[in-house]
Amino acid sequence: MLTKNEIIEKAYELGFGDVGFTGAEPFESQKEILSQRQQEYAWAYKTGLDLMAGTDPKNILPDARTIIVLMEVYFKEAYPSALERHVGRCYLDDDRIRQDRLAARIKAFRAFLRDQGIQNKVPFHLPHRLAAARAGLGTFGKNCLFYSNKVVAKGSWVLPVAVVVDQEFTPGEPTLEVGCPEWCRNTCLVACPTGALKGPRHIDPYKCISFLTYFGQGLTPLELREPMGLWVYGCDRCQNVCPRNAPWLARELPVNQKVAAMVEDFRLEKLLHMEAPYFNDRIWPHMFYMSDKDLWRWKMNVARAMGNTLDDRYVPELTKAFMENGDERVLGMIAWALGRIGGPEAKKALNDALLKSNGLVREEVVAALEKG
Ligand code: SF4
Ligand code: SF4
Repeated sequence: MLTKNEIIEKAYELGFGDVGFTGAEPFESQKEILSQRQQEYAWAYKTGLDLMAGTDPKNILPDARTIIVLMEVYFKEAYPSALERHVGRCYLDDDRIRQDRLAARIKAFRAFLRDQGIQNKVPFHLPHRLAAARAGLGTFGKNCLFYSNKVVAKGSWVLPVAVVVDQEFTPGEPTLEVGCPEWCRNTCLVACPTGALKGPRHIDPYKCISFLTYFGQGLTPLELREPMGLWVYGCDRCQNVCPRNAPWLARELPVNQKVAAMVEDFRLEKLLHMEAPYFNDRIWPHMFYMSDKDLWRWKMNVARAMGNTLDDRYVPELTKAFMENGDERVLGMIAWALGRIGGPEAKKALNDALLKSNGLVREEVVAALEKG
């Protein structure tokens, strides 16, 4: 029979930053929240995540006795600023498709347990952050994120991985509290550009930029276009402004060379003009929440981000993309972006576009011309 210490040693040997243990009793507080906020979590069920079932580890493994929580740090190395300003950090080195780093280490950990007769499952729908807090690995932030007690200078750049097992181990001391200092005065709530943080530890996912960038439906409403700023996929603003993350953000970290090599592929111009083969080959293996059927959303997000740079070097790209595209959501956002950047060249492009547009696109072109 494996001892707790042997499991801890293995977790560290495999590169996890911390490891903890909690019992397999149901997550009653989470059940309550999910019952009260059914509308807010409806999107998860649509994507196949039965969050309510995940609140009872016995639904995952009938003989569940313990949850081992492995703490993965996803921001060990610095990311290029050309990517950080448009993409949430947790997506920049995500191997869920390629399965060659974190996934391989989780697999090795599971095999180690299994070889010693411990059955285990790694569910996606169990409340991982709550499990980590119950195991004593960290506390909550009012921004709904989880802050480690130990790694990344006690910051939030962590991903707890819950492993449900059929053996009993002594649980850690829970740290279920919010760990924010009084003096912070809700910086994250105030800084959220779209007002998605309704209160401490209460997010409206439908207003969150992360959700909007990969699941938003239709042309982004006018009132969200400026607040969504330069984000193309995900958003880190409520983590970047958090004083609990300042110590880690101040560190001089070595650059993640693998991600640095992706900069060229992720240039806004390339994303704006990309076709399905390019997307499937270069983009989707890293960021897979949208398939090639959703290229319109990628392009709409990129056009909005270009507009919000106010940089007129994007005007020729947007003008060209207007000619290439047939999707009214992309065309409408291109018109908005040209109007936002403004200037004679953008105005000329909009006047040319007016002659070729109708319906929704024409409305956006007219509104953009009125603005300029
Ligand atoms: S990720 Fe961005 S949009 Fe979402 S809650 Fe945080 S600051 Fe707001
Ligand atoms: S910004 Fe302030 S309130 Fe928000 S999570 Fe950080 S410390 Fe807590």
